[in-house]
Amino acid sequence: MTEPILEVKNLTTSFSTDEGELIAVDDVSFTIDRGEIFGIVGESGSGKSVTALSILQLIDSTGQIDADEILFDGEDLLSASDEEIRQIRGSKMGMIFQNPSTSLNPVLTVGEQIAEVVRHHGDVDESDSFWREMGRKYVTGTSTQSPSWKRAVSLLEKVGIPAPEERAKDYPHQLSGGMKQRAMIAQALAADPELIIADEPTTALDVTIEAQILAELENLREEFDVSIIFITHDLGVIREICDNVTVMYAGEVMEAGDVRTIIEDPWHPYTQDLIACIP
Ligand code: ADP
Ligand code: MG
Repeated sequence: MTEPILEVKNLTTSFSTDEGELIAVDDVSFTIDRGEIFGIVGESGSGKSVTALSILQLIDSTGQIDADEILFDGEDLLSASDEEIRQIRGSKMGMIFQNPSTSLNPVLTVGEQIAEVVRHHGDVDESDSFWREMGRKYVTGTSTQSPSWKRAVSLLEKVGIPAPEERAKDYPHQLSGGMKQRAMIAQALAADPELIIADEPTTALDVTIEAQILAELENLREEFDVSIIFITHDLGVIREICDNVTVMYAGEVMEAGDVRTIIEDPWHPYTQDLIACIP
């Protein structure tokens, strides 16, 4: 038995809206093992993103999270302080969204922003004394000689960006959609997280680019020993990379289990409909 990285028990998230209370996530439970790629699938509006945001405690003030437990790495996130949550979000959980412009900073080069994450959370020492030993004055910003910059370049290479030394000097707008998405994955890996939550990370991309990025994510799971929550409306994508899957509809879990069983022998009519949509 492997030890779970995340256990969500009876999560319900509701919002107060003009039309009254809206239950976006309704009594959802699941467990994710270390090293697992765990899929959450469901049509638009089924509560996938709200589930992710609830785990990250990023629900705005109109929302209310209720759960018996959200255990991450053995720690109950519901009773953690704001500071502890910020710490966990920064260094133990990475996030990848559909739209890279929500997490890539437009005024920093891709290399600079990844190097910054490495300096804050990775295990790279670039203190004053590091630079003194190098016989140089401390340099703010990122020198291409610095360990954090080199680490950023190697991460860009690992996520499949060609000519990473050059691309690291690009600003996000200079990269194509697929390359931006890869840069965002590199940025998420820079903190050396234990769990990455990827919310429709390939939905906006061409299918060939999507297939490449999915293959890359699978390699990264092995190499970085990271668990991944992969959210999508596309059960075909789930079939490609996930070990286990939870099928959501209208905020509720319809069925859950290992991907092969769910796809070969779906129990719920809604899951059968999703399977019919796989090209
Ligand atoms: P999905 O990611 O599966 O497409 P979401 O989790 O984003 O769906 O949304 C689930 C439901 O919760 C939807 O009905 C959506 O309109 C509602 N919802 C999401 N965020 C908010 C919010 N901040 N305020 C009110 N309703 C919300
Ligand atoms: Mg969503």
